[in-house]
Amino acid sequence: DCIFSDVESAPPIEVFQMSKLYNESTNPNKVNLGVGAYRTDEGKPWVLPVVSTAELQMANDRTLNHEYLPVAGLPDFRTAALRVLFGSDHKVITENRVEGFQALGGTGALRLAAEFLKKVLKFDIVYVSSPTWGNHKGVFKTAGFSEIKEYRYWDSETRGLNLAGMCEDLRAAPPKSMVILHAVAHNPTGVDATKEQWAEIAKVCQEKQIFVLLDCAYQGFASGSLDEDAWACRFFANQDIDLFVAQSFSKNFGLYNERIGNLAVVTKDPKKLPEIRSQMEITIRVMWSNPPNHGARIVATVLNNKAYFEDWKGQIMTMSSRIKKMRHELADNLKRLGTPGNWDHIVKQIGMFSFTGLSPKQVEYMLSKHVFMLSSGRISIAGLTPKNVQYVAKCMDEAVR
Ligand code: PMP
Repeated sequence: DCIFSDVESAPPIEVFQMSKLYNESTNPNKVNLGVGAYRTDEGKPWVLPVVSTAELQMANDRTLNHEYLPVAGLPDFRTAALRVLFGSDHKVITENRVEGFQALGGTGALRLAAEFLKKVLKFDIVYVSSPTWGNHKGVFKTAGFSEIKEYRYWDSETRGLNLAGMCEDLRAAPPKSMVILHAVAHNPTGVDATKEQWAEIAKVCQEKQIFVLLDCAYQGFASGSLDEDAWACRFFANQDIDLFVAQSFSKNFGLYNERIGNLAVVTKDPKKLPEIRSQMEITIRVMWSNPPNHGARIVATVLNNKAYFEDWKGQIMTMSSRIKKMRHELADNLKRLGTPGNWDHIVKQIGMFSFTGLSPKQVEYMLSKHVFMLSSGRISIAGLTPKNVQYVAKCMDEAVR
């Protein structure tokens, strides 16, 4: 008798399932619009030149070794990550009211946040946007949250933000609730709040004393500017509230497989930082004990060198501009084909994704044409290239007719 005989298959992880189908497909027209990873005009992954420069420098540096990092992570990385997020002269930095904890990607930062919120601060209720990134609910559920609630976000009529619905849902939150807000480039919709709308959201959270966790996975990908894309994080941190920000460098550094992220903890009371730090360390200790070095070292090397930092900003601009260009090309192709419906949202949405509005049935048609995308209708714009955009538009056109 095998101890595993009663083990049943878990549901597939849709986004990785799509990559598998794409890799297995022998169709010459196949396109992968599932996974949110940057691709070049040739449809290839891109190692940022500044990352290669940092890696070469690291390889030649005989003073480096493979000793364990501190439990909370590489100090140079943690402080540099906070500077890029808040700006070096932000008051939470000058007043020493923030500390970063290195984590395994944005996911690890979220998981660390969830563990701390549940075990140390005794939170049980989390609000996530409807729809949201496919992993938010699972991470918080696994950390022991008993209630995963949704707030309205996407308005399918206007293909924009349902601010009234969002605020109404948050206003109805029970005491001791927390909320995950996408800091920039909302995944999957590509729809963000305006500055005025952010102010309203912040007001509701303050009035209802809802603890805010900002998920910042795409800084630089929306506007091309690190400062502009950090606006919501800096704004919330300005409100003299306690706050978490989960930062990911997977996308803006193209370091997907290095698992490099940071959990920024902003506190009203800096005197509590030693206690917060000790609880974070003990939480990290039982999960991954101490974090990996390579990605942290790359990010620290780039952020702490003026010339490399400028190079990096340019390379972020390259990525965000190409994505914007592909949005326009897709929309132009649909217009040219006279595809029924309004497709302006493809150009208006920001960041890596577009929520196309294709129905599950229309998505099935796309899959049959070997254009791989999520059943929600989300496509990764980064997967479009000058060579495949016409084919994708043609398939979308056929799907909606
Ligand atoms: N949050 C959001 C909204 C994301 O889209 C992603 C990546 N898809 C993450 C967090 C996690 O990023 P990472 O790969 O760094 O774990």
